[in-house]
Amino acid sequence: MVLTIELNKRQEQILEIVKENGPITGEHIADRLHLTRATLRPDLAILTMAGFLDARPRVGYFYTGKTGVQLLTDNLQKLYVKDYQSIPVVVNENVSVYDAIVTMFLEDVGTLFVVDSESLLVGVLSRKDLLRASIGNQELTSLPVNIIMTRMPNITVCFRDDLLIDVAKNLIEKQIDSVPVVKESNNGGYEVIGRLTKTNITRAFVNLAEDK
Ligand code: ADP
Repeated sequence: MVLTIELNKRQEQILEIVKENGPITGEHIADRLHLTRATLRPDLAILTMAGFLDARPRVGYFYTGKTGVQLLTDNLQKLYVKDYQSIPVVVNENVSVYDAIVTMFLEDVGTLFVVDSESLLVGVLSRKDLLRASIGNQELTSLPVNIIMTRMPNITVCFRDDLLIDVAKNLIEKQIDSVPVVKESNNGGYEVIGRLTKTNITRAFVNLAEDK
C-alpha cells in the first residue's frame, strides 16, 4: 500500500504544507492552495488512510513523520487470517490414499486435512505424502490415509484472529505450504474451519502493493 503509493502533485503539496505548518485545518490548507475544502477532501482522505497524515478533531492535520517502511509495518500488523483464509478441503481418516489423491485433483488443492468421525482434526496430507505412499505401492485403494498422514499433535494450526504475518513466519519455520484454520471444539480437539496457504499470503502481499 504505502511503499508503492504514488502521490500526485497536489498530495505532495499538501504534505509539504502540513509538514511546515501542522497542525493545520483542512480549511487553511485549502486557502494556501487557493482551492475549496471540498476539492481537497479526497486527497486528505488518501493521505490520512495511507498514514502520512493524522487528523485530530478541532486541531487539524499533522504529519506523522512515518517512513514508508514504518507504514508498511503498521499495515502488516492489521492483516488477519480471517480476511484471507480459503475454504478447507477435508477427508475422513478412513478414506484410501487413492481416494485422497482423487480428491486432491478434483478440489485443486495441495493439502488435505484429515478428520475423524467427529469431524475433529487428526492429520494433514501433502502432495508429497501421497506421492511417497504411491511409489511402488499397488494397494492404494485399500491403504487408509491415517497410516501415512502427518498426525496430531504435530499439526501446526492457526486461528481466525491470528495475524497473517505470524502464520507466514510459521510456514517458513516449519517448511510447510499451508495450515488449517481451526476453532476449539467443546469436547476438546479442533474443528477445521478454513485453510491458510502460501497463496493466501501472496495475495495479501499483492493487495498491500495495490493499495486495497
Ligand atoms: P509437500 O510435502 O507436498 O512439499 P508441505 O511442504 O506442505 O508439502 O508438507 C511437508 C510435510 O509437512 C508433509 O509431510 C506434510 O504432511 C507436513 N505438513 C504439511 N502441513 C502441515 C501442518 N500444517 N502441520 C504439520 N505438518 C504439516
